[in-house]
Amino acid sequence: MLQLDVLSSFAICGAGALVGAAMLRPSLTHDAAAAEALRICRSGYAVIGVGLLQPAVLEVPLPLWSQATMAFGAVGGVIIIGWAVAALAGERTARTAMWLTLAAVFAVVLAALPAGTQGMTVVCTLGLAAGSSLTTWLGRRLLWRPRDMHERLIGVTIVLMVVSSALRASYLLTWSGPYESHLMYLPPMMVTPFTLLYGVLPVVFAMLLHNVINARLLARLHQRAMTDHLTGSLSRHALVDGASTLIAHARQGDGGLAVIMVDFDHFKQINDQHGHAGGDSVLRHAVQVLQAQLRGEALLARYGGEEFVVLAPVSDLPVARRVAERMRQALEETTWPDVVPGLIKVTASLGVTLLARDESLERALGRADEALYRAKNGGRNQVQVGLAAA
Ligand code: GH3
Ligand code: MG
Ligand code: MG
Repeated sequence: MLQLDVLSSFAICGAGALVGAAMLRPSLTHDAAAAEALRICRSGYAVIGVGLLQPAVLEVPLPLWSQATMAFGAVGGVIIIGWAVAALAGERTARTAMWLTLAAVFAVVLAALPAGTQGMTVVCTLGLAAGSSLTTWLGRRLLWRPRDMHERLIGVTIVLMVVSSALRASYLLTWSGPYESHLMYLPPMMVTPFTLLYGVLPVVFAMLLHNVINARLLARLHQRAMTDHLTGSLSRHALVDGASTLIAHARQGDGGLAVIMVDFDHFKQINDQHGHAGGDSVLRHAVQVLQAQLRGEALLARYGGEEFVVLAPVSDLPVARRVAERMRQALEETTWPDVVPGLIKVTASLGVTLLARDESLERALGRADEALYRAKNGGRNQVQVGLAAA
């Protein structure tokens, strides 16, 4: 059976931590909290790596300075990682608190030096138990309310750290033999499992950290793809995605789906007279005005430029027309000078139709567009209806 001695176990753990640190090279992230977590965690791994790898090149019994470096590396490193977890969990912990804790660990290591190996043993073992408990506290949000499987697994690694260090601390309390310079006391049969655990934990943790950050990046990109940057309304992409659910509902029930196209009238003039920024303000406010006329289940999306599409579940075409008319009227009645000084009025032309059974959204949109075209030709600021062929 695989047997590892304690110092080999430290070498594995130290190497694992350094590999973890290398894996945590700042990756592509726009998430400030995640970037901060990566940076801090990397330092924590470097501290653990140096602390635990250095005995590998020394003779046993290890000199006291090496034991002190090991104790500080292990405890300090775990504490730094605790702050990385806090940053990942969005905890607003001051960096000063981290430096003060590290300074306290350093002071305790120094104070325990006169007690020799026994002093380093106690500091290292109890310090690890305390440090991993602190990590649990700092990462409590991640532990209690993980957002996904990766965050849950990060919680599991923290719990493993707490449990294993508590076991080591309780075993030390029963220890009566001589104190060894490697500072780790475990029943012989547990050395190998602990070695494996400490060897893989840093690498696994680094991987999980990357996964969490990637998942957040993905969610952010998805959110961006689904939202129109200027107005905050849905994007055209999100409209297509959301439409399938509305269409399925409409087909199941008795009602229909109103497809409404909105195009602002003489928008070029608005831009010309009030600047592009003025035009932008109009679009932003207009979206709020339109949205206020719609029920929660309706979708409002920016289709392009100053054209918007609304999909709204309705009972029939007259109701669809009323929804469109309500939107037109709301725009007309808005006090625009409050939005853009000097802007008297903003109107829009609308084309409305009902999605026919078994008809594609594109077809219905085409019909709404034709109706919109008629509304423009008919003098603008009006609603025109497109009838589906019987
Ligand atoms: P019509 O009544 O025939 O629709 O006249 P229009 O001037 O609105 O003509 P059209 O719809 O062809 O032009 C749309 C204009 O909207 C042109 C473009 O500069 C402007 N526009 C498109 N997107 C934006 C935007 O994001 N911000 C601003 N400020 N203007 C935009
Ligand atoms: Mg227009
Ligand atoms: Mg247009």
